[in-house]
Amino acid sequence: MLLNHKYEIFPTKEQKDMLDRWLHYCRQLYNSALLDKQRKYKQKKENYDMYDMRKQLKMDQETYPFLKGVPSQSVQDVFLRLKKAFDNFFRKDTKYPKMKKSKEYKSITFPQFGLNSKGYRFAMSFSGTGQLYNTKLGEIDILLHRPLEGKIKQLIVKRQGHRWYAIFCVERQALPSSIDTDNAVGIDVGINKYAVLSNGTAYENPRFLRKKEKQLKKAQRALSKKKKGSANYIKQVQPVRQLHGKVANQRRDFLHKLSYNLSKDYSVIAVENLNIRNMVKNKKLSKSISDAGWGMFRNMLAYKCENQGGVLVKVEPKYTSQDCSSCGERVKKSLSVRTHICTSCGTVLDRDHNASLNILKKGVEQLSVAK
Ligand SMILES: [Zn+2]
Repeated sequence: MLLNHKYEIFPTKEQKDMLDRWLHYCRQLYNSALLDKQRKYKQKKENYDMYDMRKQLKMDQETYPFLKGVPSQSVQDVFLRLKKAFDNFFRKDTKYPKMKKSKEYKSITFPQFGLNSKGYRFAMSFSGTGQLYNTKLGEIDILLHRPLEGKIKQLIVKRQGHRWYAIFCVERQALPSSIDTDNAVGIDVGINKYAVLSNGTAYENPRFLRKKEKQLKKAQRALSKKKKGSANYIKQVQPVRQLHGKVANQRRDFLHKLSYNLSKDYSVIAVENLNIRNMVKNKKLSKSISDAGWGMFRNMLAYKCENQGGVLVKVEPKYTSQDCSSCGERVKKSLSVRTHICTSCGTVLDRDHNASLNILKKGVEQLSVAK
């Protein structure tokens, strides 16, 4: 299994400047490769692939020698990111890849770390004094607030605001000893209640949020009746936008608090691995799902668990709401049936509570396979 471990690093002013320059160059390479790709497709209907990108890079490096200053594997990773962005798009998981603004491009990947089999250093490694080391940057202070166990597969250096972080992707055969699988919880996110835990705790959508959302819907309806571009339309647009921003902010606050509390209370959190975009396509469900910000919630849980030294497990959503959490019997029910009643063992449970118990069971199973 692969786990991410995040640690704060403390580059000096000079080191920060250099890292910022690298980020800048990587972003430029990403954007120009994207443009080249679009151009080639437009002109020749041909794919601009990794080979083309590398060839172009060689030429760019002749024209702009400073590009050679960026670690070469990190540059290769820039192209890999672009490839992944297109792969995701063709799989219909994301929208068409866009040019990255500087605030959207904040990390550099080092695909290898430490020493190679002959004992030579990769671009990033630990120095003798336990600092992060790169030939061009020198030694960077790192706060290893918790032990880094397992084989390091790659390192991502990331800027967040004014702070810098090193995120190690570590391969492990077993779970870190710090993770207590007994302190685990399954979460089912839903439409009626926001989230139901496997211990039965339910979290409602906050009332103030529901109120604001109602106001927003009303305002949007009013706007849709006005003629586009008319004076009345323009007058109505601003309040709708404001309300929209307010709802988004409040929802984010709610999700931040909920995900923080959960990540603090549990070492292992299991959720369903849902493809949000596919679900949003389902018209009936779409409004409430995109409103509920499930994707955002899952992302928050992922990095908060990581920060707290826990783990988020994503499980296959198949049959989690159908199967009986106590005997395993498959009890088919439509979305409108809110109670799970098992004819085989007699278990009666709230539908979402039953689902969260199944999610927990699957999550723990997944972890014990890794153990
Ligand atoms: Zn049963």
